[in-house]
Amino acid sequence: MTAEPNAAAEAPVPAPADFIRDIVASHVAEQRYPGGIVTRFPPEPNGYLHIGHAKSICLNFGIARENQGRCNLRFDDTNPAKEDLEYVHSIAADVRWLVAGWAEQNLGLKPSGARPAATPDAADAADFYARPAPGGAAAEPFFASDYFEALYAFAERLILAGKAYVCDLSAAEIEAHRGTLDQPGRESPFRNRPAAESLDLFHRMRAGEFPDGARTLRAKIDMAAPNIWLRDPLLYRIRHLAHHQSGDAWCVYPLYDYAHCLSDYLEGVTHSICTLEFEVHRPLYEWILEALALPRALPRQYEFAKLNLAYTIVSKRRLLQLVQENVVTGWDDPRMPTLAGIRRRGVPAAALRTFVTGLGVTKFDSLTEIAVYENAVRDALNGLAARRLAVLRPVKVVLTNLAEDEVLECRATNNPQDENPATRPVALTREVFIESDDFAEVPPPKYFRLKPGGEVRLKYAGIIKLDEIVKDAAGALVELRCTFDRTTRQGEPNSDRKVKGTIHWVSASRCVEAEVRLYDRLFTVAEPAAEPDFLKVVNPRSLETITARLEASLADATADDRYQFERLGYFAIDAKDSAPGRLVFNRTISLKDTWAK
Ligand code: ATP
Ligand code: MG
Repeated sequence: MTAEPNAAAEAPVPAPADFIRDIVASHVAEQRYPGGIVTRFPPEPNGYLHIGHAKSICLNFGIARENQGRCNLRFDDTNPAKEDLEYVHSIAADVRWLVAGWAEQNLGLKPSGARPAATPDAADAADFYARPAPGGAAAEPFFASDYFEALYAFAERLILAGKAYVCDLSAAEIEAHRGTLDQPGRESPFRNRPAAESLDLFHRMRAGEFPDGARTLRAKIDMAAPNIWLRDPLLYRIRHLAHHQSGDAWCVYPLYDYAHCLSDYLEGVTHSICTLEFEVHRPLYEWILEALALPRALPRQYEFAKLNLAYTIVSKRRLLQLVQENVVTGWDDPRMPTLAGIRRRGVPAAALRTFVTGLGVTKFDSLTEIAVYENAVRDALNGLAARRLAVLRPVKVVLTNLAEDEVLECRATNNPQDENPATRPVALTREVFIESDDFAEVPPPKYFRLKPGGEVRLKYAGIIKLDEIVKDAAGALVELRCTFDRTTRQGEPNSDRKVKGTIHWVSASRCVEAEVRLYDRLFTVAEPAAEPDFLKVVNPRSLETITARLEASLADATADDRYQFERLGYFAIDAKDSAPGRLVFNRTISLKDTWAK
């Protein structure tokens, strides 16, 4: 992972008030949680994090940060069939990247290898969750799988209390018994089997006596409940599968609803913040915690609307399809809305935080314009990026009044946004490259760049005049022969002589070549997820790879720095594909306005 430019220097952006922050503030005021505010970010390691997750991360870490609390990174790893260690590692790296320099002091981790006891009481919990030094060698994220033993013990308690039972119905039979929105469900014939029998079967499920799907553990709630999630939901199922954390230790796995509320409780989470689709699960979240009559304060669940972004897919399942079908080069392809892709493309973490925080937190689904995101990226890069000269599509210009070996040093400004902008030397030589679209042989009206007989300023150098267009026998452009007006150089008497156009350029003999990757939107429609087949609306021109000429100083470009190629956009080194002697740049984003109108 590359370092984050200027992360430490970032001024904290205050988050706008929202209904969740208001609730937290009222709990702080009434001192409801003497142990402090604890949130969590609970990704399932079944894919890479995407820009939607950034919203959840910034909300959960933001609330922890604003209240000197902590936010646990917890892998919700209860479904080994879809999970993978690659995802565990990428998620951990992405979260650290996004909170670095901002809320890393609020990142809740556990001592490595720590697991709570099988029947944790308040004292166990206090030891287990003592916050280790951030980033310390002995600290690691939490895993729901850390709690498999504790969750199993809680399930035994529910069985003994008559609140859960082992059910022998198949998945299809359970489905058929569930009823519909207007029809109550039917009770399972196994619902009233004696607790001792359920307990024995539950032990034998764990011991591996039954095949997948043969039996489940279900909560005994209410088959007539209007909320379908309360119709004796599954708590455990049999899956003879190795798990990336617990190995072969288990063949019964808890379901999300059962594991999530109890993991929150075990970690001392106070505010369990999730997206709206979990609203209907909240009664079950509360039922499980209340059914266990637990000694410590219970966490509460709060829901907010997901981030949806135009021209963007925010679903791990669909992003996985893009990877598997080779639409992109991988999860970290710079066109992907994954945090790994966004980072590789050169977007600073601070830009992403400003973007998602600025959207606010609501209960209403909406679609955010892509321009809001792009402007946040530009704003962040404008202050950060060193200006450089680069030509993407070169045309050769010969300054006929310069000698072959003549080198005129010009001073170029690094970043005009700085208070006292630094400058650097750039060499003007007899042969230079300009951008092909800064020349027009037959100019349209109001064309102020280079045209026959016309003048234009080479930025930082001086004014040139086009005398002659040289073409080969086939009519292709070979070079443009110009005269350089030496009296318009910096410091010379006519340096501020006005011409209407100013263009960028690089010396042909003193430049470096680089592969430059230009990105466009990955989809051609604003709501690809609403299409019958989102793969059919992939933009066939989302990537263009060119060989560009860059000013010589960019030979030393580093992946930690951000650059503005003047008049072209913001660019960053591709940390994965660049190598010594082989520069690869990604265009992070174009400039809003080109200054040659
Ligand atoms: P996906 O549908 O992409 O798989 P998910 O919700 O299943 O997403 P999880 O790993 O379960 O992914 O998500 C971790 C947390 O991130 C959850 O609390 C979830 O609510 C939140 N989250 C997921 N997508 C978004 C989004 N688009 N906007 C805001 N929060 C999100
Ligand atoms: Mg999920």
